[in-house]
Amino acid sequence: MSLQIYNTLSKQKETFVPMNAPQVNIYICGPTVYDLLHIGNFRGPIFFNLVRNWLEESGYKVKFIQNYTDVDDKIINRANQENTTSEAVAEKYIHEHKKDYSALEIRKADHMPRVTEHMDDIIQIIQKIIESGHAYVAPDGEVLYSVRSFNGYGKLSHKNIDELQAGIRVEVSEKKKDPLDFTLWKPSKPGEPTWSSPWGPGRPGWHIECSAMASSLLGSTIDIHGGGIDLIFPHHENELAQSEGATHTTFVKYWVHWNFLNFGAHKMSKSLGNVKTARSFIEQYNAEILKYLMLRAHYRSLVDFSEEGIQDAIHGLARFYSAMSVAESIVLQNVSGQEVAEFKSLIDKTRSEIKSSLDDDFNTPKVFAALFEVVRFFNGKYKRGQKVTPQVAYMAKEFLLLMKSRGDLMSLFQHEPESFLKSLDNMLMIKKGIKREEIDALIAKRVEARNSKDFKTSDQLRDQLVSMGISIQDTPAGTYWEISK
Ligand SMILES: [Zn+2]
Repeated sequence: MSLQIYNTLSKQKETFVPMNAPQVNIYICGPTVYDLLHIGNFRGPIFFNLVRNWLEESGYKVKFIQNYTDVDDKIINRANQENTTSEAVAEKYIHEHKKDYSALEIRKADHMPRVTEHMDDIIQIIQKIIESGHAYVAPDGEVLYSVRSFNGYGKLSHKNIDELQAGIRVEVSEKKKDPLDFTLWKPSKPGEPTWSSPWGPGRPGWHIECSAMASSLLGSTIDIHGGGIDLIFPHHENELAQSEGATHTTFVKYWVHWNFLNFGAHKMSKSLGNVKTARSFIEQYNAEILKYLMLRAHYRSLVDFSEEGIQDAIHGLARFYSAMSVAESIVLQNVSGQEVAEFKSLIDKTRSEIKSSLDDDFNTPKVFAALFEVVRFFNGKYKRGQKVTPQVAYMAKEFLLLMKSRGDLMSLFQHEPESFLKSLDNMLMIKKGIKREEIDALIAKRVEARNSKDFKTSDQLRDQLVSMGISIQDTPAGTYWEISK
């Protein structure tokens, strides 16, 4: 089966057929650069990192663009607060955003255009919209989009125009012919950044920038346009009206929207005060946990970002890395492998399950479920400390290859397993309030008791460790412990 993508426009999964295969053009709405970005801002880039890798593996050539909004009220306010210019604010936070992006260890966009670099394109597209009769100029030089002139307004958010009108706050405005009309260009107030235009000095409204940048960099029709679900209305609805109003051709073939993060009971929003910057998350945990946490939920579902959700993700990741670290220790013994038919067919089945899951609207939870099956099988075949047979050597090598190659699609599972596992375990121990040395000491005492056949003490120590959330494995090569759930 070929790739199916859920299209917000049709509200169903559709077979993916790009405009000019093998080329695929993707545009996602990027951040407004006035502050450090919260983790929610990276759900899209983390997900689209996979989309892009998967399309490429499927034989497409991808051009991926994410913009920076560097003209905006929030930036102007920040500049006023800090007694500086909005250029300086934007410059600073673009720099910080690039640092976060690098720390995430995902591929960078092919191009990250800024609004200020595309002022001519913005003015041109507004002119086209006016010429097409979809916009008008108010006496003060504000250019407004005439929503009722565009047949089909509301088709992306699946609302009819009267419903939309009922939902908006009606501003008292002499300028607007209709309360739904929105700004394409407005005169700047004193002290605000200003560009000259046929309608007088001013600056663009928010929505027009994406229509202008997408068409100037990718052409009139783009294959995939992405954004958070909060952008469906009004931002994307307005982008659609602008672009199709200007070009009279389809703006976007596939509209792809990702869901929110869920912080306990509340969806993430700055006003609720539960903001966490990507930077603070990566410092406290690490980028891999962030990526895994985001991707283990389907992109159209909420991500559980509660403390519990985070701990659960660390546990899941630790299970993968624990098996990988065992496999790595086997591979390092250099025993030549011998094919195990049962394992080979499991790996083949897993690869094809991962393909069909990703082809089914990027179903990442199914990808991890398929990989967990292999972990379970592998763990059942070998315990640390056992003798490495040629069969075990074969399985370890194939398992690692699978994890690395499939993980690479999501920028996961590329760390050195042993040390990365240790860092995950340390986080879990901090949460449980226990220390590695403490456990090592109890294990040593228990080994001593076992050696002197004091099984009562040995059992007591085992119980104590279990109650601390530690599981123990006695093997011919010694005792190993792991953090259980
Ligand atoms: Zn946009």
